[in-house]
Amino acid sequence: MSEPFLVVGAGPAGLSAAHSLATAGQKVILVEKEDTLGGAPILSGYAKLVPSGEWARDAIGSMVARVVDNPSIEVIKNTVVQRFEGKPGAFNVTLRDGKTFTTPAAVLCSGFTHFDSVNKPEWGFGRFPDVVTTTQVEQMMSTGAGIRRPSNGEPPKRVAILLCVGSRDRQIGREWCSKICCTVSANMAMEIREELPDCHVYIYYMDIRTYGLLETKYYWRSQEEFKVKYIKARIAEVTSDGDKIIVKGEDTLVKRPITIPFDMVIHAIGMDPNVDNLTLSNVFGVNLEPNGFIDRQNTYGLVGASSREGILVAGAATGPETIDDSISQGAAAAISALGFVRSLENA
Ligand SMILES: Cc1cc2nc3c(=O)[nH]c(=O)nc-3n(C[C@H](O)[C@H](O)[C@H](O)COP(=O)(O)OP(=O)(O)OC[C@H]3O[C@@H](n4cnc5c(N)ncnc54)[C@H](O)[C@@H]3O)c2cc1C
Ligand code: SF4
Repeated sequence: MSEPFLVVGAGPAGLSAAHSLATAGQKVILVEKEDTLGGAPILSGYAKLVPSGEWARDAIGSMVARVVDNPSIEVIKNTVVQRFEGKPGAFNVTLRDGKTFTTPAAVLCSGFTHFDSVNKPEWGFGRFPDVVTTTQVEQMMSTGAGIRRPSNGEPPKRVAILLCVGSRDRQIGREWCSKICCTVSANMAMEIREELPDCHVYIYYMDIRTYGLLETKYYWRSQEEFKVKYIKARIAEVTSDGDKIIVKGEDTLVKRPITIPFDMVIHAIGMDPNVDNLTLSNVFGVNLEPNGFIDRQNTYGLVGASSREGILVAGAATGPETIDDSISQGAAAAISALGFVRSLENA
């Protein structure tokens, strides 16, 4: 195969797909709409990742470096695919900046969009400066600014993390669980306790989904070693008295109303479908599943197959995924793409 494979999106999934194809001796064109490679962990300035504990800039940075340094991979930034025509084995690709090329198959790794907390106005984001999101706190940590109340720059003495913001919420049309935010939040709670030992951290939850081996490392450790407090609650509203942020709700274990003042409230935001998905669906001719993520076929056949032959899909483009799973899916989709094209050539 002399024509390059197309990979769309340079997050963990796309970097993995491009690297896998190049390792298998193929040429790759990797198209990224932003100016920076690395996807959400880099673009949103994540701090230490779960479950590895590595800084995002090191872990994902090394994935970026091995792609950028690979002569078999051409990276094209600041553009998107505008037209994708032809047939499996010989698709014609036109980029927004006019460049055209032919590709035998494409792997879509276009990821997700962070939930925008202004869509949950009763929980205070956008109204009170001390109501922030997990991505904002990740940035406070990764830039070395430290955990500070945005309103006055002081370290908080009492922090609440509210889980499932923009996930598992039928009222705002988001039924899915975003999979990783319980673990990210438990980890963040421990990091806050480590940086500010006098700060009390509370996690408000519906259910805790630190699934598999994460249960011991995050859920139990955060309580037993770091004294993080968990409150099973239904939150009614988040208000302010001008200084403190007041979280009002019902403790659903003891069935009593609870009102607690905090210095800072953190929304554990979920993963929305990429805002580009309708366009991607039209350009590539792939179906979306009912929530708006790119539909993936059953994995018993070709792993990562989309609804259109010759187009594979991987990572958070398909629904909420962790970084580890996105990386695995990127590699699997790359092998599927390669196998599919070989089968066309041998037919
Ligand atoms: C607050 C928060 C913290 C998290 N922390 C962790 C963690 O510690 N550990 C963990 O495992 N997971 C974590 N996650 C989940 C993690 O962000 C995802 O698993 C991961 O980013 C998915 O990788 P991806 O490559 O599929 O998508 P993305 O990271 O979203 O990358 C997609 C890439 O495609 C590009 N793109 C989008 N549309 C187009 C287009 N039309 N054309 C070209 N390029 C396009 C984007 O610019 C981006 O570079 C966290 C999520 C959140 C919300
Ligand atoms: S992982 Fe936890 S916080 Fe995230 S949506 Fe699922 S249950 Fe809610």
